[in-house]
Amino acid sequence: MQTDNLQGVLKGQKIAYFSMEVGLTNEIPTYAGGLGTLAGDAIRSCADLKIPLIAVTLISKKNYFRQKLDANGRQSELPNEWDPEKLMTLLPNEVNVQIEGRTVKVKAWLYKYQSITGGVVPVLFLDTDFDSNSQQDREISFYLYGGNERYRLKQEAILGFGGVRMLDALGFKVRKYHMNEGHSSLLAVELLRKYAMDEEKVRELCVFTTHTPVEAGHDKFSYDVIREVLETVDLSILTDYGGKERLNMTCLALNLSNYVNGVAKRHQEISSKMFTGYEIHAITNGVHSYTWTGEAYRKLFDKYLPGWAIEPELLAKVDLVPDEEIWLAHQQQKQLLIDYANQASNSHLEPEVFTLGFARRATEYKRATLLFSNLERLRSISHKRKLQAVFAGKAHPRDEGGKRLIEQIYSFARQLKGDVEVVYLENYDMDIAAKMVSGVDVWLNTPLRPMEASGTSGMKAAHNGVMNFSVLDGWWIEGWIENLTGWAIGPHPNENIDDSVCFAKENEDLYNKLEYVIMPTFYDRRDQWISLMKNSIGKIAYYFNSHRMMRRYVTEAYL
Ligand SMILES: *Cc1c(COP(=O)(O)O)cnc(C)c1O
Repeated sequence: MQTDNLQGVLKGQKIAYFSMEVGLTNEIPTYAGGLGTLAGDAIRSCADLKIPLIAVTLISKKNYFRQKLDANGRQSELPNEWDPEKLMTLLPNEVNVQIEGRTVKVKAWLYKYQSITGGVVPVLFLDTDFDSNSQQDREISFYLYGGNERYRLKQEAILGFGGVRMLDALGFKVRKYHMNEGHSSLLAVELLRKYAMDEEKVRELCVFTTHTPVEAGHDKFSYDVIREVLETVDLSILTDYGGKERLNMTCLALNLSNYVNGVAKRHQEISSKMFTGYEIHAITNGVHSYTWTGEAYRKLFDKYLPGWAIEPELLAKVDLVPDEEIWLAHQQQKQLLIDYANQASNSHLEPEVFTLGFARRATEYKRATLLFSNLERLRSISHKRKLQAVFAGKAHPRDEGGKRLIEQIYSFARQLKGDVEVVYLENYDMDIAAKMVSGVDVWLNTPLRPMEASGTSGMKAAHNGVMNFSVLDGWWIEGWIENLTGWAIGPHPNENIDDSVCFAKENEDLYNKLEYVIMPTFYDRRDQWISLMKNSIGKIAYYFNSHRMMRRYVTEAYL
């Protein structure tokens, strides 16, 4: 059975891509946000381009949760159990990882992501939920980012130690191990053991992508917990490479990788300042063009730019598409979103009304409520030319601040009733993301700088001719040309100004540009608006896609 399942994918050397979350389809809900959808897009591009890659992740069988919102926007979390058996095959191989002195058996489910080009990327979902393990060990692979420090350390041990051992057990030959964020850093410790502490050899094998632009965001574990949980590793190895006080997973990966990168140019600058003495490169994120392009636009691109899905650079020639068809396709996609939203939330969105979209994890730094900082102003803008908005996003179950944001948006929506229609869609996931990024007119992004390492949803919007209106952080610093590809909210990061001045400027830009630049163009100068939409496709989507991203990983990090 095993040879059948692995037939065709065992040949040759592979890039082993490790990620705690992977967002492949809505039926496999093992993702929480951007990190997972990025991993999914990387896998899709590798399959399309036949890049020899195998992905390794955890099965997270009982989650990520389904979001339920009550009449006040209070979030509760429903279990989101799914059945791996329907979608993947359990491989017979088994490896062991010692956790708290117990032997935990780890197995792997094989999912084969198949591209229409014939390329295949195998994805291994590691699982500990078997009879031979104790109940607490069975639960290690249940909850993505669940539990406490100890629980997450166990998960990272399964991913890092277990993942490397599983690849060996299955007979994969690995050319590089790519750590997508620090959750999988323990794989480098496993490689040190495997190669008799040959540090140079391990470095040559490892590639590390950091995603966290602030110190507090990096995964750290206390050595007390490590001593109790991890199998006997020489602690001095960990303290040497990962820090004296606590084990910093980012430091561990930095010290044991020959190639390290941030996920946007700005993020690379910030990471280089945070971690002096390391050479950190920049490979700006991208999204999978075909996946995130709505059906109406796919048809248009197929007709006028054949080959675009495998060679998204062709989108630079979007001017070949007639304006009327661009507009018509957009209206079709907008109607789909509006029908969905009106049905799902009993709202009254209208297809002719200018529509803002905002959806991302509900967490404080994303500042989902910034649009509502002056309700009077928002009302008066909407009285001049009508405005409506669609929101979505889940808060992590323990992120009280994030949950409060959702409740606040519900309250603002109530206060604005009759003046500005504001809808909050429940249970943000990849399907809803796809509807939203293709169905609004302008995609809003208001993160607190410099917290947005890259961000990707704005790139998805650009593939659908949707305009970006965003704080200059992450990828948008690279994609932005004022009044051509979209609009900035607040100052450029090179301007050295106080936070309070910056916040004031953000507020000013948000309302002034909506009222005097963006909405007048949308309503009164449709031709110009369509040429802006084409810029979004021809000057953003042609570049900010995961085909370009993976080709760069291949030439700069893997080869
Ligand atoms: C694209 C996507 C994200 C990431 O969006 P950001 O704007 O980068 O935060 C998060 N969740 C889902 C479901 C997505 O599709």
